[in-house]
Amino acid sequence: MMDIGIRRIFSEDHDMFRQTARRFFQEEVVPFHAEWEKNGQVSKEVWEKAGTTGLLGVNTPEEFGGLGGDYLMANIVQEEQAYVNCTGPGFALHSDIVMPYITHIGTKEQIEKFIPRMTAGTCIGAIAMTEPGAGSDLQGIRTNARRDGDDWILNGSKVFITNGYMSGVVIVVAITNPDAKTAAHGISLFLVEEGMPGFKKGKKLQKVGLKAQDTSELFFEDVRLPKSALLGEVNKGFYYLMQELPQERLLIASLGLSACEWMFEETRNYIRQRKAFGKTLSKLQTVQHKMAEMKTEICITRAFVDQCLEIHNNRGLDSSSASMAKYWASDLQNRIATQCLQLHGGWGYMLEYPIARAFLDARVQPIYGGSNEIMKELIARNVVADK
Ligand SMILES: Cc1cc2nc3c(=O)[nH]c(=O)nc-3n(C[C@H](O)[C@H](O)[C@H](O)COP(=O)(O)OP(=O)(O)OC[C@H]3O[C@@H](n4cnc5c(N)ncnc54)[C@H](O)[C@@H]3O)c2cc1C
Repeated sequence: MMDIGIRRIFSEDHDMFRQTARRFFQEEVVPFHAEWEKNGQVSKEVWEKAGTTGLLGVNTPEEFGGLGGDYLMANIVQEEQAYVNCTGPGFALHSDIVMPYITHIGTKEQIEKFIPRMTAGTCIGAIAMTEPGAGSDLQGIRTNARRDGDDWILNGSKVFITNGYMSGVVIVVAITNPDAKTAAHGISLFLVEEGMPGFKKGKKLQKVGLKAQDTSELFFEDVRLPKSALLGEVNKGFYYLMQELPQERLLIASLGLSACEWMFEETRNYIRQRKAFGKTLSKLQTVQHKMAEMKTEICITRAFVDQCLEIHNNRGLDSSSASMAKYWASDLQNRIATQCLQLHGGWGYMLEYPIARAFLDARVQPIYGGSNEIMKELIARNVVADK
């Protein structure tokens, strides 16, 4: 399932790029991942090496300081990371969630300031929406920015922020008009930089999985932001978030499905060599049927997700399809993780076995990026809407 050159949405150029990405993850990520898991973060060097290798900002236009590849190329980086079962580096969030906000709505000055450094891996990006008291219901956030002359004064806190601890720049979602007719009409986005007085990073949070990925709390105490820190227009933040979230959801779907393919191959190898009752597990019909079921589910999902990727690459995917892909692929990832771990028996429960890590890493996928319950809300809204 992970062979190069078998999927019809990719060209020869994509396949060559995939070889580069594959080599990078095998040589620069796999050997260090266990150490990063202990540290709760990856190294700064791996970011810079990814930048030098040309794996960051792949889908960011060249004129903005990115690499000018298409979305399929950017997606290859995510897939190859999933194919080594190493979730530490938060490259996908940096390149395909944070950078697009800056290139789509940033000023020339903001683009020139951040994009080349982000493509080089010397400035790590994060996005901070969630707060201790507001996740799914983003309109319930309390972080706020008030005007002070030409500047803004930012106060509040965020939680569960991927790349938060290592971040050089964070897109912070804040209320700028508390009197707006709905909260959504009074929200803006700001580019907050590491080292700004009053901006503090909290501890790296201890998680069930994604052990090598830094997820942290962020605190803002009277952070003075120049007007050049406002990203896009004032009070349009909610609208911008709605514009960008489909890509985030497709990205989670793609990561989830690629993880399924990796887990399937890992388990296939295991059952072919593990013996019980005088033969390998792969000779047992119940095991064969389980593998057949999993392969069928993965291949059907692959057909849908590849179609979404192709559409998104050409003209932008509709929000409902992105939600369907996210909900389905991340749920499938958890079903496959449970079944593959089961087929490993007791060894599957041992952390030294990669399938155990894949099982733990899968659990968050239906929760973040908009939980799967919220995905169903969004899909349903479209289903019952009047024509
Ligand atoms: C590892 C990790 C990384 C993350 N990275 C980031 C990041 O980089 N940036 C960021 O801003 N956030 C990030 N998040 C936050 C994540 O997006 C939120 O956790 C998620 O949106 C859910 O919000 P919540 O945790 O507040 O749960 P709640 O909103 O409190 O939801 C709790 C439960 O209620 C359900 N629920 C809520 N509302 C409804 C409804 N209307 N109908 C049905 N069910 C509902 C939810 O589905 C969920 O099951 C991350 C989270 C984790 C765990």
